Amino acid sequence: MQITSISERRPTRQIMVGPIPVGGGAPVTVQSMTTTKTSDVEGTLQQIYDLAGAGADIVRCTCNDLAAAEGLAHIVPRSPIPIIADVHNQYKMALAAIASGVDCLRLNPGNIRKIDHIKAIAMEAGEKGVPIRIGVNGGSLHPDLYAKYGDTVTPAALVESALNELSYFEEVGFDMVKISVKASSVPLMVEAYRELSKVTDHPLHLGVTEAGPPPGGLIKSTAGIATLLMEGIGDTIRYSLTADPVEEARAGRQLLESLGLRERQNVDLIACPSCGRAEIDVFAIAEEAQRTFATKKIPLQIAIMGCVVNGPGEARGADLGVAAGNKRGHLFVHGQNVAVVKEDEMVEALVDWAEYIVENGVEAALARVDLVKAKKEAEIDRKKLLLEQGEDVNQGQKRVDLIRKI
Ligand code: SF4
Repeated sequence: MQITSISERRPTRQIMVGPIPVGGGAPVTVQSMTTTKTSDVEGTLQQIYDLAGAGADIVRCTCNDLAAAEGLAHIVPRSPIPIIADVHNQYKMALAAIASGVDCLRLNPGNIRKIDHIKAIAMEAGEKGVPIRIGVNGGSLHPDLYAKYGDTVTPAALVESALNELSYFEEVGFDMVKISVKASSVPLMVEAYRELSKVTDHPLHLGVTEAGPPPGGLIKSTAGIATLLMEGIGDTIRYSLTADPVEEARAGRQLLESLGLRERQNVDLIACPSCGRAEIDVFAIAEEAQRTFATKKIPLQIAIMGCVVNGPGEARGADLGVAAGNKRGHLFVHGQNVAVVKEDEMVEALVDWAEYIVENGVEAALARVDLVKAKKEAEIDRKKLLLEQGEDVNQGQKRVDLIRKI
C-alpha cells in the first residue's frame, strides 16, 4: 500500500525548458548549476554529464560575459539535458544567451532594473520561444522594495518583486515564466512561496539560497523544499550547496524519490543505528554499501542491519537486506532468509542479489534457494547470539538497578 501525506499538487500552467515540461502536473524536476567557467566548454560539459548522471534534469550555467555566451553556443548542442543561462547585471548578456541557443533564462529582478531592458529581453525571448525564470533573491532585493518594507526582507517584498517583473513581461505579451523567491532563511522562503502560490499559477522553482556546505546546507535546503513540496507547492527544485554540484543533484533526486514524487532510480539504503548487539561495524559496512551502490541504477530499498536478533524483522519492508550474526551475513529478501555469506563478502553479495532481483524479479530470486535451510541457519545464529549476549545486551536493566539504588 502506498501511503502519502503530501497535499494534492497545486495546479500550475506548464512551460517547456527544452524538452522538459515544468509545471502543469509534470514530474517535479531536479536542477543544479555548474561551477566551471562557462567559457571552458569541455570542462563545463564534463560537469553537466556528471550532473545528469547524478539525477539532474536541467542545469544552469552562468552567462556573465561574452566568452561565457560563446561557450554556451558550443555547450547547448552537446548537452544531454536542457541548459538555463544565469544572467545578473547586464541585459546584453541575456540577449547573447538567447542568441547562443539556451533553453531558458534566469533573470534576477534585483539586478537588471531598467524596465526598457527587461521588456527588450522578454520580447526577444518571446520571439525565440525561450522561457524565463524570474529569480528573486532575498540577498539582492530591489533597493526600492527593500526601503518600502522597512529596510528588511519580508515574504511580501519577495513576492512583490516577482510580481513587478511579471507585470513588465505581461505588458509585452510574454508569459513563459517560472518564478522563484529564494532566501537563506528557511521560514522566510517558506512563507514567501506560500504567499506567491496564492497569487500566481506560474510554475515555481524552489530553493534555499546560500544554504552553505553539507550537512547544514542539506538540512536547511531539505527543511525548506520538503515543507513546500509536502504542501503541494513547487514544480522544480535546486539544492544550493557549497559543495560539488553533483551533491546537489543527488540530494534533489533523493528528496523527490523519498517523498514519492519521482520514481525510484537509485538504491534507498537503510541501516540500523547499531547498538550493543551489533555483530559487525555497521557504520563501515553501510558506508561501503553507499559507495558501491552510488553509481548503480538499482531502484530497491536495501537494509544493513547489525544483528540477526532484530535486524530481519525490523527491515522486513526492505526489498533486500543483510543482518550480521555469528560472524556471518544473513541475506534476506522481503524478510525471508535466503543465504548466509562471509562477513567480508556482505556488500558484494548484496550487489549480486540486487542485480539479480532487478533483472529477474523477487519471485525468481526466492525460487533459486532453499528457503527452509536458510531460515534454519539464521535461527541457529540468532539463538547463539541471544545465548551469548542475553536479552538485555544494552544493559538497560543493569542501569535501572543502579538508578534504583541511588
Ligand atoms: S538490535 Fe541489532 S538491528 Fe537493532 S540496532 Fe542493535 S544491532 Fe542494529
